[in-house]
This record gives sequence, structure tokens and C-alpha cells, in this order.
Amino acid sequence: MHLHLYISLPTKCMNKTITEIIKILKTSYPRAGCSLGHKNPFELLIATILSAQCTDERVNIVTPALFKKYPGPAEMAAAPLKALETLIRSTGFYHSKALSIKEASRGVADDFGGKVPAEMEKLLALRGVARKTANVVLGSAYGIAEGVVVDTHVRRLAFRLGLTKETDPVKIERDLMAGIPKPDWIWFAHALVLHGRAVCGARKPLCAECPLAALCPNLKNPVASSHRRSLPRTMIRGPVSRRRPGESRGPG
Ligand code: SF4
Repeated sequence: MHLHLYISLPTKCMNKTITEIIKILKTSYPRAGCSLGHKNPFELLIATILSAQCTDERVNIVTPALFKKYPGPAEMAAAPLKALETLIRSTGFYHSKALSIKEASRGVADDFGGKVPAEMEKLLALRGVARKTANVVLGSAYGIAEGVVVDTHVRRLAFRLGLTKETDPVKIERDLMAGIPKPDWIWFAHALVLHGRAVCGARKPLCAECPLAALCPNLKNPVASSHRRSLPRTMIRGPVSRRRPGESRGPG
């Protein structure tokens, strides 16, 4: 039976693997950063709430008109729910998202003097804000590394790369915080998102093109045979040939 890298390798090897992964990602995505368009912490807060179950590209299409009409927390808190729903409809789940951005705006306006708080506990008190959103705002708006953003890409890649065996985002974040040096927390999540979009997609990971292939316990076909021959047997999760292309063992 194949054991997952996370389980089978002792901590020292695990740390070495993470160090190698970080080194490779730094070469591939040295300036990875937030891809949600925003001019201030409030806009990033709202954009991140809207990004749930939606692409950043779609959110970036929707937010300019939204922020033009309701530029700050007070304006958005006073906006008619129906008007918000119409503006954000294409991001999906627009009933609950409209309520969340209206109520989160009200919280910022009434409870925090109109300024998005730069503290995890206070952010979590806002409607529609869980640790992922709070970490995005703290990291990308304030430069505060309070945790690691765990979105769908980070969740999938952390699992595939053997950095966690958990499926719960809070536990995944805990594992990443334990393994990744704190100065890299903000950048690392952005780099994994970029790698997830460009190479390690949910349905069809492009393992043959992946610079992390030699370190990945979830290596899948199609992998160039010359590349596979150069890998230690333990790094090829078998039996690779019996799996369908795109088949996923992990979340996402
Ligand atoms: S080797 Fe494949 S599964 Fe592993 S990180 Fe790269 S693309 Fe993803």
C-alpha cells in the first residue's frame, strides 16, 4: 500500500521537501500576488467575499461598477439589496453574497469606524468572512502574515504535494503554517494559486510540465517517459498506468 508523503516521511525529510518546493516555486512565481483588483482594504474585502465559488477574472469584471456606485462601507451598507444582487449576479450565489457584502459593510461602518480592521478576530466578526477572506485582507491589504490563505487551489495542491493529509481548510492551514517559514506565508498561497491555475489543474494536472514533479507524491500521467525514468521509484505514485488521465485522489 502506498503511504502518503505526509505520513511516510519523517519531519526532517518533510521540511527538506517543503524547502525544495518553496525554492522551485520562487523560481517559477517570484512575484506571485493577489489577482483581485482593489484600491484599498475595503475593496479587497468585498472582492474576496465575491470570489467564493467564482473566478477572480469574473470578480474583476464585476467590481469596478460595484465600487463606482458604492465606493465605501457606508454607501454599500445603505445600498438596496436588490441593486447589489443585480450588480454581482454573475459571480454566483448572489443572494447570499449580496447580503454578506451589505452586512460586512455595515459592520465595518458601524463597528470599526469605516475602516476595515487589521486584526483576525475583528475581521472574523464580519458577515461572510472566514479565515480565508481574513487572511487575504490581512496579507494583501495590510502585509500582515497571520495565517496562510487556503482556497480551492491551495487546498488541492497542498494535498497533492503531500503538505497535508487534511481536507478541512482550518487544519490544512495549520499544517502549512507549521511547515512553511512565516515570511513566506503570504507569497506561498499566491504561488500555489498560480501553479494550480497554470499547471496543476483540478481535472487535468500537467505533470509532464510540472517543475515540482520530482517532489510530488501525487505525480500522474501523462508524464514523459524519460522524465519518469529519472525519478526515484518512491516518487512515482503507483500504479500510475492504471489511473485514468485527470483522475484525482485529493480534494478539488
Ligand atoms: S506533479 Fe502533477 S500532481 Fe504534482 S504538483 Fe505537479 S502537476 Fe500537480
